[in-house]
Amino acid sequence: MAKGLPTRKDDYSAWYNELVKQADLAEHSAVRGCMIIKPYGFAIWEKMQRILDDKFKETGHSNAYFPLFVPKSLFEAEEKNAEGFAKECAIVTHYRLKNDPNKEGKLMVDPEAKLEEELIVRPTSEAVIWNTYKGWIQSYRDLPLLINQWANVVRWEMRTRLFLRTSEFLWQEGHTAHATKQEAIDETEQMVKVYADFAENHMALPVVQGLKTESERFAGAEETYCIEALMQDGKALQAGTSHFLGQNFAKAFDVKFAAKDNKLDYVWGTSWGVSTRLMGALIMAHSDDEGLVLPPKLAPIQVVIVPIYKKEEDLEQIKTALAPLTKVLKAANISLKLDDRDSFRPGFKFAEWELKGVPVRLAIGMRDVENGTIEVARRDTKEKMSWQLEGAGENIKQLLEDIQQNIYDKALTFRTSNTTEVNTWEEFEKALDAGGFVSAHWDGTAETEEQIQDKTKATIRCVPLNNPQENGTCILTGKPSKERVLFARAY
Ligand code: AMP
Repeated sequence: MAKGLPTRKDDYSAWYNELVKQADLAEHSAVRGCMIIKPYGFAIWEKMQRILDDKFKETGHSNAYFPLFVPKSLFEAEEKNAEGFAKECAIVTHYRLKNDPNKEGKLMVDPEAKLEEELIVRPTSEAVIWNTYKGWIQSYRDLPLLINQWANVVRWEMRTRLFLRTSEFLWQEGHTAHATKQEAIDETEQMVKVYADFAENHMALPVVQGLKTESERFAGAEETYCIEALMQDGKALQAGTSHFLGQNFAKAFDVKFAAKDNKLDYVWGTSWGVSTRLMGALIMAHSDDEGLVLPPKLAPIQVVIVPIYKKEEDLEQIKTALAPLTKVLKAANISLKLDDRDSFRPGFKFAEWELKGVPVRLAIGMRDVENGTIEVARRDTKEKMSWQLEGAGENIKQLLEDIQQNIYDKALTFRTSNTTEVNTWEEFEKALDAGGFVSAHWDGTAETEEQIQDKTKATIRCVPLNNPQENGTCILTGKPSKERVLFARAY
């Protein structure tokens, strides 16, 4: 239980790490950079999965599963993709251990059990999947092919942080194949919108939808769309990506289809993914110095009831008084917990549920039973109210909606007040130091982008979709520019 958290202001990073630990979300594992997701954390992830999975199915996708290992020859087939991921690959070279003759009780890799071909532990599955699609796609009748998989991937990251950047992470990856370029672009755009909708309407997280610059693009993609969010310390976070792959993977894996006129052509591809990083985004965007603040739509427990009693008979009376209310809440599918553990005092329970981000806490004692009232505390504003028990069910349903909206509004206000338009280098540096998104003109070249990053550690987060065209001059080089882009220091 809570030893108290460091404050966000004093040490944001320590606050985050301690919060993840104390709220029982996840912990570090024996392997550096990998994490153990604990039941409470996993319950949030499962809610995310369920909602996203429904959205994928509503948009016509089916789930499938492909293997963890990628033969090296397949992995290197799409050269840009291979080059992009080469530096962070885990590779399996052997398939057996044997007793070490020099160290009793120890095992060693059996040199005789060397694989003929090394296997790459998938950092992403385009290679395996496109190699499979070759057998699945012959004609236009086989298209579009709309597949998603829920899986784990491994990227040997050097600087890791629970949920935000781990060496193994859980994600979903959509991989689609289409007959026309336009259809593939439409799919890419549709999926970034699905992600934005999920972030805003379920995570209560406002996001900017945009395009990555060439240097930030997914290796092997023609275009990368993304959603970018702002965390409370003013750093940006890439929360999801959707890639238009052109015909790159179709060419690398020779995936052709016969069109209606019998002409053979390569198919057009997309891929898109969100990961357990979304958990990090959720925690960092909304939580406070007392603990998690969870939007009701993703909270594993939406309402907790703490009965305050001394005698066992009192508890029975409280339960009887609560019965009509719990019936209404259960009928509305609100996840409810009655915390009647008798080994903890109410104050301790209050602090624990606050730490765990339960959106609504109800407390009820004998005086309330007599008066027909209940104490209602909302986690987001910490406001406490005394309500009539009668009709409380309907009011709590409304309160959960209000909390969802309030958390979103607060995050949006934060983002708006931390997005600065600048026109000079001096203003640019000052705005970056203050934190948040900085909207500025850039001359469009990778060299300038790199120089800006070297000087300031800021990257171009995206070129927002539907960006207004505006003539200006690059903040670094003074060369002409036609639109502003969003810079930020990022996770
Ligand atoms: P990508 O395949 O690189 O476009 O990434 C797909 C999704 O996974 C994006 O939403 C990324 O933000 C996320 N992601 C990338 N690397 C990691 C990592 N090391 N840990 C957690 N999530 C990641």
